[in-house]
This record gives sequence, C-alpha cells and structure tokens, in this order.
Amino acid sequence: MSPISARTSLCGIILHPARHTRSPAMHNAAFAALGIDALYLAFDVPPSALGEAVAGARALGLRQLAVSIPHKQRVMEHLDEVDEVARRIGAVNTVTRREGRLVGSNTDWIGAVRALEREQKLEGIRAVVLGAGGAARAVVYGLVQQGAEVFILNRTESRARELSEALGGAGAGPLEDLSALPHDVLVNATPVGLQERRSPVPADAIRSGSLVMDTVYDPEMTVLLEEAKARGARPVSGKWMLVYQAAAQLEIWSGRQAPIDIMARAFDSAG
Ligand code: NAP
Repeated sequence: MSPISARTSLCGIILHPARHTRSPAMHNAAFAALGIDALYLAFDVPPSALGEAVAGARALGLRQLAVSIPHKQRVMEHLDEVDEVARRIGAVNTVTRREGRLVGSNTDWIGAVRALEREQKLEGIRAVVLGAGGAARAVVYGLVQQGAEVFILNRTESRARELSEALGGAGAGPLEDLSALPHDVLVNATPVGLQERRSPVPADAIRSGSLVMDTVYDPEMTVLLEEAKARGARPVSGKWMLVYQAAAQLEIWSGRQAPIDIMARAFDSAG
C-alpha cells in the first residue's frame, strides 16, 4: 500500500447498521494490487444522518461512496445527478465525484449479469427472479438488458406485477408459481437464507440443469444453492454478484480494469 499523503484518494461505503461489510477488504486489496493511491473505509450512517454524511463526503472530496442498506433510495435526493439506469432501477449503490458533482449510479445489475455470464449467455433464456425489492429490480433490469425473458415471483404479488410492468418483465406471480414455470435461470433476490438455514422455495421446484444464483452471500453456500447442487442445477453464489458490482465501481472512478481474482480472495479472507 502507498504511504498515505495529501494526494491519497478516499473512498468508502455508507450503511446501517455496519455490522459487517467486505467492501473495504475487496477495494483496498484491489488498490494495493493496482498501485492506486487510495484508501477505502466503512461508515456507519443512520438514516437521520444521511444528508450530513453526503455533505461531508462532498466537502471532503471523497472520490466514491458505495451505498448499501438502508440508503439506496433516499440517497438520491442528496445528489447532483442520478443516471438514467439508476433512476429506472430506482436505487443508487454508487456515488462518484465527477468534476465536483456527485453522480449516482447502480452497479448491482452489472454484478448480477457478470456473475451469471461467467456460467452462461443470457440472451434468449428464460429467467425467474424471486423478490421485488431493490436487489430484484437491479437483477431484472440486467437480465432484460441482456435479452432474457424474465418472470418475477414475489411474496406480495402486486409488487411483482408492478416491477414486471416497469422494467419489461414477461410476467409475474406469487412464489408458489415456481414449480409450474419452466426456466433456465433462477435468481433469489429475497433476503431469505441470509444468516439462516432456510430457502425461499421448496427443493422440488428447482430444475435440474438450470443455473441458480442467490444474491445472498452470507453464507456463501445457502440452503437454496445446496439444494440446487443436489438436484443437478448449477449454483452461483451471491459472492460473485458482490465482487463484480464492486469491480464495476472501481472501474468507474479509477478507469482501471479491476483485478477480479484478488477481490474475490479478499472477499474470502474478510468472511
Ligand atoms: P428489500 O428491498 O427489502 O426487498 C426484499 C424482497 O424480499 C421483497 O420483495 C420481499 O417481499 C421479499 N421478502 C422479504 N422477506 C421475505 C420472506 N421471509 N419470504 C419471502 N419473501 C421475502 O431488500 P433488497 O435490498 O432487495 O435485498 C434483498 C437481498 O439482496 C438481501 O439479502 C441483500 O443482501 C441482497 N443483495 C445482494 C447483493 C450482492 O451483490 N450479492 C446486492 C444487493 C442486495 P415483499 O414484497 O412481500 O415484502
């Protein structure tokens, strides 16, 4: 790591509560590998302090701020600009300083697409996304962009329907519809499985030969992914979505190609 000086760039992530985040480990490892003179920190920012935190980042000249739960929607009102894609998705996970202006964008959809495309091309495939919150919106946007036919299933069916209509999905329904819906790719974008031994869908709804990605990455191998593997589907951990969305963030502000393997190893050691 370069010695810290007045020229060192500062980046960070805002989230609340800041129980655990692997972002500093991934970004600092990438800076070290690329010889970028920058430092990445995590900031615990409660919702009541969001405006002040963004003003602070602006005043201190932070190069980039990643935005995590629960700030991805409300942060938009504090920025100078929100790009078209983040506006369509309805969530900002990245704030980058550009010529003194704070610009919001979204790299979650890029993370999802790159993680899935490690395994298979998405054009023309049929995908099912579980959930209709911020993560689901990013995943659906990415899949539709790549030319997939996307169905959205959610606990609250009306939200799935709204999401499908807003982002060009092919249809929507309740979670129970999964078994009756042939598909090539299944993505869990609900928090079910996060630090718990539970799956959002019954094991017998998983199709042999399909690609199954969980956006949950803690644990890396969720119950959904274990059951997918046992039923002859190919599991993709949410780890890869996280690594690729972070890689895209680094590429936006530094203009350098992100070292994926190094960032993935940093994710592993920060567990
Ligand atoms: P969110 O906006 O709160 O949305 C949660 C969604 O999950 C809603 O559609 C909700 O359904 C559904 N849901 C919640 N609890 C459920 C339950 N017990 N059973 C069935 N459905 C349930 O959350 P989010 O921001 O989209 O985050 C979702 C997950 O994505 C989190 O685990 C987060 O860590 C993960 N994520 C991962 C990455 C990555 O890079 N790997 C990036 C972003 C997010 P209702 O509409 O019925 O409430």
